[in-house]
Amino acid sequence: MAQVTWDTKLATVVGGQAAKPLAEHLDIQTVGELLEHYPRRYLELEEVSSVHDLFDAQGGLVTLVARVGSAEIHTYLDKRRKRTAYRTEVEARLGDGQVWMTFFDPHKGMATGRLEKHLRPGSSVMLSGKVGQNTFKRNRWELTQPEITDVEEDPSPLLPVYPLSGKLRSDQVRRAMRIALDVVTDIPDVLPARLREEHGLLEVAQALRWIHRPQDRRQAGAAAKRLKFDEAFVAQVALAQRRHEQRLVRSEPRTGASGGIFDAFDARMPFELTAGQRRVEEEILGDLAQEHPMRRLLQGEVGSGKTVVALRAMLRVIDSGGQAALLAPTEVLAQQHHRSITAMLGDLAEADRLGAAAEATRVVLLTGSMTAAVRREALLETASGAAGIVIGTHALLEGVVQFADLGLVVVDEQHRFGVEQRAALSAKAGQGPPHELVMTATPIPRTVAMTVFGDLATSALTELPAGRSPIQTTVVPLTDQPAWFDRVWSRVREEVGKGHQVYVVCPRIAATDKDATLESGEQLLDEPGDERPAPAAVEQVAPSLAGGALSGLRVAAMHGRLPAEEKERAMLAFAAGEVDVLVSTTVIEVGVDVANATMMVLLDADRFGVSQLHQLRGRVGRGGHHGLCLMVTTAYAGSASRARLEAVASTTDGFKLAELDLELRREGDVLGKEQSGKGRSLRLLSIIKDVDVIEEARAAATDVIETDPLLEQTPLLRAAIDALGRRAETDFLDKA
Ligand code: ADP
Ligand code: MG
Repeated sequence: MAQVTWDTKLATVVGGQAAKPLAEHLDIQTVGELLEHYPRRYLELEEVSSVHDLFDAQGGLVTLVARVGSAEIHTYLDKRRKRTAYRTEVEARLGDGQVWMTFFDPHKGMATGRLEKHLRPGSSVMLSGKVGQNTFKRNRWELTQPEITDVEEDPSPLLPVYPLSGKLRSDQVRRAMRIALDVVTDIPDVLPARLREEHGLLEVAQALRWIHRPQDRRQAGAAAKRLKFDEAFVAQVALAQRRHEQRLVRSEPRTGASGGIFDAFDARMPFELTAGQRRVEEEILGDLAQEHPMRRLLQGEVGSGKTVVALRAMLRVIDSGGQAALLAPTEVLAQQHHRSITAMLGDLAEADRLGAAAEATRVVLLTGSMTAAVRREALLETASGAAGIVIGTHALLEGVVQFADLGLVVVDEQHRFGVEQRAALSAKAGQGPPHELVMTATPIPRTVAMTVFGDLATSALTELPAGRSPIQTTVVPLTDQPAWFDRVWSRVREEVGKGHQVYVVCPRIAATDKDATLESGEQLLDEPGDERPAPAAVEQVAPSLAGGALSGLRVAAMHGRLPAEEKERAMLAFAAGEVDVLVSTTVIEVGVDVANATMMVLLDADRFGVSQLHQLRGRVGRGGHHGLCLMVTTAYAGSASRARLEAVASTTDGFKLAELDLELRREGDVLGKEQSGKGRSLRLLSIIKDVDVIEEARAAATDVIETDPLLEQTPLLRAAIDALGRRAETDFLDKA
């Protein structure tokens, strides 16, 4: 046989028969793709599994090591074939209980053969089976037709457990892996030898052998360390390369001038900046003074004071003779920004008007729905440079919009804007690309920022300005204390009695809705095998409260399927205080601001995600009154859902919650599509747990790119980077 390398077709190595299921179920075509299919974990044959492994595997596949106990063969009538068949029940003993294996056979010989060959009493056995709603029945755990691995045939002390899909069996993966590992030569090593030694890492061939066939945990660990480093390193080299390219781009430094509009505004500010705002402002002004474009992400919850900081940066640019654009995701938000920025600037926004300040500029709004005359005026002021600040939506990206000297682009809520759209705006700048500041209210954990947004600098505002009231959040578990439900509604009455208003939020609109018909298409969190009643629906809860627990109060309903005017009417009535209790879906999540609303009841709160719960409760306690949020749930104490709610109740720190959210989601969801399919680059590396590895790799990658930006000395690494492609930096935020 010819030499077997990384790119050799798997079928030529293991044979078409064995290669087919791997191609079909895992899309593995080559030796290299197989070798990169790493074990999820290892089973020690000396140690039997625990019943807990069955709990943990709800809805999926479970692989267990057990000792074979008693076995019985029963006959039954196979109704379809109209003949006698055989059902074998075998007891498998676990460390703390047992599980029964059931097999069905048409012939007695097959049943007895299995028992003799694989299931002798007292022997160790490794079994894999599907765990579903029927696994626990008749008061015992039962796995139907589990796959049995012959332990004698595979004598390694640690048995790798591989991710599987479809009908693929783990022994098929293991067998192909054994062959591939025995014959492959010439495995490409992306890591320069110097770096490998510096970081005490294995050679790649060794690492691959040890990850698939370790003799002990130490070998498996050393192998994982090396392979994780590779993943982090390749990603970080790609990012370092991008940072390097950016530094080569020249932009106009915007250092401002004393006695200009920045200073005039500073003197008129009605409040002091918080320490956090001052720190962030320093970072931004520092960036603006550089000769290459700023690319900075500013994170901070709604109300944390981002806009004020951004405005001051815009004024600095105006003092440097430039203009600033503020890009908002919706027309409503663009109008809001226009109103509040104009108001904050006061006479500083009235250039060319009588009585305007000498340093004044003009602030113009550019949206799609303006009349032609107003629009023409705005376009003129933008093109002439008379407008120092131009606020708008996507309309700002159109070709007709020309700036005299665009120096800074501020993007509010980055996740609605794609990379190309920002590039379109950058192209409008005269003297090199403008500086860019991206503001987001969705906190991004540090590791994600480093991995996914590795080419953006980040700033964060973590404290809210003084005068904001804290929200108290309490979990109300109905499973433990059904009577508490009544207490919830009397608490609502109390709150209304004090002249305040209350939101009641339900996961669904109508009782007949399936999960898919939620607001904005989001998915309800549902645990497989969940037998609890369907989650609360607005159309049921509103009338039942109005005629029952909350009779006498003014109760209204709102959800996304109402006609726009009705929604608007309900919202206006609530804002005007004509409604005491608004029963709604998550449509109130963003933008709704009713200062007199002090309490929120979240029904079936466990159906919402962490970030969503946090956003929702942010609707109350906005008017200087204390906010109260009750999260009602039927999730059992100790369940993952309950733990999630308790975590949300325990903190109002959006960054902590974002980290938690990340832990609870699968990595694939976080990194976006590209990272979950074939050819994904992060297999072993966890951007949640492997912070240290990522940091080390980042430093190493930066070094490499500084000495050899085009990777001319490391062609294998360059090939890996090319293969990785350019990951879309907005992937994460698109999902958030
Ligand atoms: P964000 O853009 O992060 O949502 P804003 O900049 O719009 O936050 O600020 C929210 C509100 O808080 C505004 O009314 C703003 O005037 C006010 N604010 C901002 N910073 C401070 C501060 N340091 N002290 C008091 N109020 C502030
Ligand atoms: Mg804002």
